[in-house]
Amino acid sequence: MARWTAQQKKIIHRIRTLHAVDKQPLNISAVKMHHPRLLKQVMTLKHFRGWRNALLAAGLSYKKIRIELSDHCHCALCGKKLKAMTVHLSAMHQMTKEQYLKKYPNEPTMSDAMRAKTTFSLRLAPHWEPIWSREYLVDYLIYKYERGEDLSPWTIYQKESAVHANMKAYFGSYQAAIKAAGIDYREIRVIDLTETWTPDKVIERIRKLHRKKPLDSSGDIRRRDSRLYDRCHHYFGGAVPAIEAAGIPYIRLKNRRSHQWTKRTVIRTIRVLDGGGLSLRPAALSSHLDGQAEELLTAADKYFGSWDLAVHKAGIDYENHRGRRSL
Ligand SMILES: [Zn+2]
Repeated sequence: MARWTAQQKKIIHRIRTLHAVDKQPLNISAVKMHHPRLLKQVMTLKHFRGWRNALLAAGLSYKKIRIELSDHCHCALCGKKLKAMTVHLSAMHQMTKEQYLKKYPNEPTMSDAMRAKTTFSLRLAPHWEPIWSREYLVDYLIYKYERGEDLSPWTIYQKESAVHANMKAYFGSYQAAIKAAGIDYREIRVIDLTETWTPDKVIERIRKLHRKKPLDSSGDIRRRDSRLYDRCHHYFGGAVPAIEAAGIPYIRLKNRRSHQWTKRTVIRTIRVLDGGGLSLRPAALSSHLDGQAEELLTAADKYFGSWDLAVHKAGIDYENHRGRRSL
C-alpha cells in the first residue's frame, strides 16, 4: 500500500466525502466544472499518478462513481448559455467557429453531453471517460504505461489514431503529452530506435500489408504504417518505387494519384510484373492486374506499336515467357 502525505490524505478524504456524502459526480469533466481546484491539485501531485489513480486510492472506481456531463457551454463573447455555439456565433457575432477558436482556443464550442454523443473513439474499452480532456489523456497514458503497453508514437498512431490526434491537439506534441503524464520520453522511444530496418524488411512489410488488405494508394501506407512509409523514402526514395520493388505494379493501386500512362510507366510496369515472376501473356495479364490490363495493353499499343514490342523494349525475352504460369 502506498503511504500518503498529509496533503494527499486530505484529498482522499475529500474525494470520499464528495462521493458518499454529497453524492457528487466524479468523472473528470464534472470535477473540472464543480471542483476545479481539487482536480488541479490531484493532477499536479505526481505521486497520485492521475485522476483515475486518485479515485482508486479513495477506494472508488469508474464503476462506482456517478458520471455527469454538462448540457451547455458559455459564449465567451456574451456569456449566453448554449448547447452548441456555431449558429449563435454566426447569427449574433458574425463569426465562424474557426475565428472564435482562434480568439479563444481553450473555450468549448459545444456542451460536454453533445461532445460525448459524437466522440465514438471513447466508447470502446478500455476507455472510461465519455469525452476527451487534457486530464483524461494523462490518465489514459499512465494507465497504459502501468500495464507495460507500448507507447511509441508509431504504435499509438496505428492502433489508436484518436488518442494520437488528441495528444497533439491538447499538448501541442506527442512528446509534451508523454511528459505531462510524468513518463520519460526516452524510455518509450527505445523500441523505435532499436528496431533495425533494411530494404528487405521494408519490402516484406509492404507485402504483409498488401496481403492483409490490398493497398489502394501510396498514401495508404502512410495511413496504415507511418514508420514504414518513412523507411520507403529512406531506402527507395519514395513509396511508389518501394511498392514496385515489392512486386506490386503501381497501376494495381485503385486510388493511385496518377492514371496517366507514359512510355516510362509502361516499361516500368512490365519490368515489375516480370520481376515478380508473373506471366506476360496478354490473356494472363487481367488475372494479376485487377481490370487494369486493358489500360496497359492500350498504352503499350499506343507508345510501342504492340504489346510484344513493348515487352521487347523493356529488355525481356518474350519467347521465354510463354511457358510461364499465370498467377
Ligand atoms: Zn455570444
